[in-house]
Amino acid sequence: MKYYSTNKKAPVATLEKAVVKGLAEDRGLYMPENIKALPKEFFDNIDKMSFQEIAYTVADAFFGEDVDAESLKHIVYDTLQFDCPIVPVTENIYTLELFHGPTLAFKDVGARFMARLLQYFLKKGGEYVSSASASAKAGVNVLVATSGDTGSAVANGFLGVDGIHVYVLYPKGKVSPIQECQFTTLGKNITAVEVDGVFDDCQALVKSAFMDAELNAHMKLTSANSINVARFLPQAFYYFNAYARLKALGKADQMVVCVPSGNFGNICAALFGHRMGLPVKRFIAANNANDIFFKYLQTGKYEPKASLVTLANAMDVGDPSNFARIYDLYEGKHETITSLISGATYKDEQIAATMKQCFKETGYILDPHGACGYQALKEQLLDGEVGVFCETAHPAKFKEKVDAILGSDIEIPARLQEFMKGTKQSVSMTKDFESFKAFLMNE
Ligand SMILES: *Cc1c(COP(=O)(O)O)cnc(C)c1O
Repeated sequence: MKYYSTNKKAPVATLEKAVVKGLAEDRGLYMPENIKALPKEFFDNIDKMSFQEIAYTVADAFFGEDVDAESLKHIVYDTLQFDCPIVPVTENIYTLELFHGPTLAFKDVGARFMARLLQYFLKKGGEYVSSASASAKAGVNVLVATSGDTGSAVANGFLGVDGIHVYVLYPKGKVSPIQECQFTTLGKNITAVEVDGVFDDCQALVKSAFMDAELNAHMKLTSANSINVARFLPQAFYYFNAYARLKALGKADQMVVCVPSGNFGNICAALFGHRMGLPVKRFIAANNANDIFFKYLQTGKYEPKASLVTLANAMDVGDPSNFARIYDLYEGKHETITSLISGATYKDEQIAATMKQCFKETGYILDPHGACGYQALKEQLLDGEVGVFCETAHPAKFKEKVDAILGSDIEIPARLQEFMKGTKQSVSMTKDFESFKAFLMNE
């Protein structure tokens, strides 16, 4: 399968090139040249298949031309060593719990999948990964900007993978203490870089690094943000599984999928699923106060802004990268996009009120991100529809905030407690690209 750039000014790429480069030469995002529709029999029988079986079928449609069946099966089964159940919250609203992976966040799937895929290309001696050994610094270097959850998922997905070094850039003081532990305490092939700025500054540093010729001659750089096809496409697995589990309950006929969105990688994967034939009636993108996409739906104008800091900090994105993919998928047709996707935007006070109300009425503990999704369904679901919203992270990852709002003392799962025992190690950095470049040139 070939991948083209959303900016249409770069040559098409192989899967390996798209994964290693992350971003195309013209700064566009890679898109698969075709999105295969899955056969009717697959959807007829999907409710009898396991999450892993479903995921392998979906993965084969994307990656089957480029990765042999046995290796791909291995990558999928190694990645999905946990479940993503749907849990009823009200009569017609279900949550799709995407937090049963190693760092209790949905990004675990894409991160692990990408690590294993890169490792596959390294072992195979692929053209793009192999040229890495010719650089001053051997191996592949993953740069990842995070507002919290990406960093922990990527760091843990890549931890201990030979030939790959990971640099996690995160905004100083803007990620939760638990999140910070998950990528600053690992050591080995993981370096945490604490940037004096906001998430968008971290993302800008990563983007500039990819465009810097001298740096790229010094070291082989790749990205593991949701711009990477190997990170965002596997997230489609979740939505096929949601449909399967809802179908098993006889409730999938008018399924509405609501995704709390920041950089829009997760919802973009869901939309790819829809293009493959997944019977979702419509989608809702739920935003916090960073309402760029919401405004786009209303006005047809995409106007990026500096990000605002909110309670749902993993969605604090002022210029969502994957907008370019959604725009491309629907050929820029605003009408098509608004007929399939609606929006919602919530300020911190509304997020907190939703968390309180949901807990009081149903006993379900929402995290601040999931709360946006739940509230959007409560407000927008029509008669006869069944809504599924993603719980994108375990509420304990935001324990301080959740406890303050609910007056609770929620338990921290053992897996998270383990991280908190380690010692924090990080490199301090300004948001100035020259200092970041100098640091990497010395690596
Ligand atoms: C990353 C993240 C989001 C936003 O996902 P996108 O793919 O960037 O839209 C939402 N919630 C949590 C907890 C996240 O970590």
